[in-house]
Amino acid sequence: EPGLYIVAGPIGNLGDLTPRAAEILRRADVIAVEDTRVSAKLLRVAGADTPMVPYHDHSNESLRLRLVERMAGEAVALLSDAGTPLISDPGYKLVRDARAAGRFVTSLPGPSAAIAALTLSGLPTDRFLFMGFLPSKAKARDDALREVTGLRATLVFYESGARLAESLAAMAAALGDRDAAVVREISKRFEETATGTLSALAARYGDAPPRGEIVVVIGPPGEAPAASQDDADAALIAAMAHLP
Ligand code: SAM
Repeated sequence: EPGLYIVAGPIGNLGDLTPRAAEILRRADVIAVEDTRVSAKLLRVAGADTPMVPYHDHSNESLRLRLVERMAGEAVALLSDAGTPLISDPGYKLVRDARAAGRFVTSLPGPSAAIAALTLSGLPTDRFLFMGFLPSKAKARDDALREVTGLRATLVFYESGARLAESLAAMAAALGDRDAAVVREISKRFEETATGTLSALAARYGDAPPRGEIVVVIGPPGEAPAASQDDADAALIAAMAHLP
């Protein structure tokens, strides 16, 4: 069927390419990619020789409109260098415009480092906010952190090794010294999850910036200590006093 196929790829382990993703990469008429050299490798794994076009959301609009035109009669696949397209990766404007034009749009779900890291962190998963990459300038970074200080949710950030220790310290300063996890190299040979308070993690990575790809997961602000049974009984009695 013609339309737009959002295809998730592996985040490090080529074995995580799903059979359905491989099939669409073979059968699509064209694949919109970030970097043709990176995606060529995955296409070989999938046994696909489908033509590729480089696509970014800041590519010129005429390229995007041409792709949306093609979706009327052809299957256009969207693939990122790693993981799920649109998640700190290009594609949002392509999906938006495909929808506006009434094209068929579907997703072939698969790995995303944010979700994998969340599941590895040991932190609450019932409510979380994906923060992507923090701004690189200190003031913009601190403003972004301050915006979410009161939020009762686990926070998920993409981060680079070079910036890690400085970011962890800034996070501790803005959010308080919460429990956190630094998750590296998911699905690869040197996968590692380090847990601890933000300040302990900042100290750990302070002298030696870690290699590889990194996700930082931070737990929600500390809960007030649980009420004792006596407190609960007192509250119940007070509430019942107001019953008719
Ligand atoms: N679209 C991708 C996804 O769904 O995960 C994310 C793309 S973003 C440009 C790349 C960032 O994702 C890296 O800098 C790193 O923070 C994170 N990342 C990607 N692969 C990872 C892995 N195997 N382990 C840990 N983090 C990873």
